[in-house]
Amino acid sequence: MPNYDAIVIGTGQSGPALARRLVAADCNVAVIERKLFGGTCVNTGCTPTKTLVASAYAAHVVRRAADYGVKIEGAVNVDMKAVKARKDAVVAPSRNGVERSLKTLKGCTVYEGHARFVAEKEVAVDGTELTADRTFINVGARAAIPPIPGLDQVSYLTNTSMMDVDFLPPHLVILGGSYIGLEFGQAYRRFGSEVTIIESGPRLIAREDEDISQAIADFFREEGIDVRLDSKVVGVEKQGNSIAMKVESVGRSSQVVGTHLLVAVGRRPNTDDLGLDKAGVATDAHGYIQVDDQLRTNVAGIWALGDCNGRGAFTHTSWNDFEIVAANLLDNEERRVSDRITAYALYTDPPLGRAGMTEAQVRQSGKPALITTMAMEDVSRAYEKGETKGFMKILVDRDSKQILGASLLGLSGDEVIHCILDVMYAKAPYTVLQRAMHIHPTVSEFIPTMLEDLQPLQ
Ligand SMILES: Cc1cc2nc3c(=O)[nH]c(=O)nc-3n(C[C@H](O)[C@H](O)[C@H](O)COP(=O)(O)OP(=O)(O)OC[C@H]3O[C@@H](n4cnc5c(N)ncnc54)[C@H](O)[C@@H]3O)c2cc1C
Repeated sequence: MPNYDAIVIGTGQSGPALARRLVAADCNVAVIERKLFGGTCVNTGCTPTKTLVASAYAAHVVRRAADYGVKIEGAVNVDMKAVKARKDAVVAPSRNGVERSLKTLKGCTVYEGHARFVAEKEVAVDGTELTADRTFINVGARAAIPPIPGLDQVSYLTNTSMMDVDFLPPHLVILGGSYIGLEFGQAYRRFGSEVTIIESGPRLIAREDEDISQAIADFFREEGIDVRLDSKVVGVEKQGNSIAMKVESVGRSSQVVGTHLLVAVGRRPNTDDLGLDKAGVATDAHGYIQVDDQLRTNVAGIWALGDCNGRGAFTHTSWNDFEIVAANLLDNEERRVSDRITAYALYTDPPLGRAGMTEAQVRQSGKPALITTMAMEDVSRAYEKGETKGFMKILVDRDSKQILGASLLGLSGDEVIHCILDVMYAKAPYTVLQRAMHIHPTVSEFIPTMLEDLQPLQ
């Protein structure tokens, strides 16, 4: 039975980096991957979707060319085969890079197959049993499929199968009005599909503030996307070449018929077929592996990193998990999950950059707070670029003067948010940012200006 110092299960965002650090610390490491090296981000998540969003943005700008004084004769067509080929060309080097770097890493043995625990310190992969004192689980998550009657009788799409689409779905119906559904929805509308988004809750991206949800629903409707809120799909059936959904919406029943259906209602961890019971590793009711602040499971010698631990659902949180485990284990430096500040972006156009608390969370906390908002119409760079949709808002603790959170929905919101995030990490008062001289003309130059106009949060 091959024995290693460490086993890494899964090659998502934290596994490969940790394997490299362990090897550098003279550990003999086994890495196990059952499918595509690089995991979700590289193959079916961030990289391909942002590549598709870029193609969609190009189509959108070309359609608006006349607004900028640019004349384009004839119709604008999107070649979906070329869009997919571009996406594949961006993805392939990343995937191959992860695979090659692990396979050529001295001290690292790569196994390709599905890993399952057979005991606390034993993992089986396709009939081979490996042992190690330390195991790191980085198995990620997959699309959750809701138990809707008839759904299993139609061929629906998920974020994974969307990666093979090289044609224009005439009418794409999307189940779920959250981050993944919104990014695909706007991109496909811009490619030329009819798009219907069906959301069971009363608003899109319910975790955000109501004004953010409302603004995004407005942009989407302006682009011709049919956004249906408070609408629950209660049945699905095939109708010729189409898919029909029975929708119940505040006491009324209706039918939505589309040519293609994308299910984007959330994620579930890949922990159900991992033999966790054989190792005695505890999960919560949703299958997420329970971990402490340093990502240790309840079993000594087993850690869980990335989406499967339920402590984050992003590439940067998974990468940060790697940094935390490496620091504690190899660098004798104490780092904790609770030290990180919530931060993420939604890559609609305009994008949403988020840091810290929402306004609703600040209100709930009862902290005495100040707020400042600015419409993107008042941001000269946005005006010059003809991209004035959205608004920015920042919340500050009245007493400590520290920034509590920000939501930047507008041009470059995904980038500008970092100037706020870094001041939050520095635990510096907002006045540091308010007095900083930022470059003109940028969106960021208005962050200090906004902070001059803080008002009590009523
Ligand atoms: C459509 C979409 C868009 C996204 N966009 C963004 C974004 O813009 N920004 C962002 O930060 N995040 C985004 N995310 C989330 C991001 O992709 C994940 O949070 C990130 O990939 C972290 O994943 P991970 O490290 O937990 O594992 P993953 O990347 O999911 O990798 C897990 C790996 O483990 C392997 N595996 C699973 N089980 C086993 C087993 N039993 N044996 C062997 N191998 C196994 C899998 O094959 C996979 O390769 C997006 C996700 C989706 C779905």
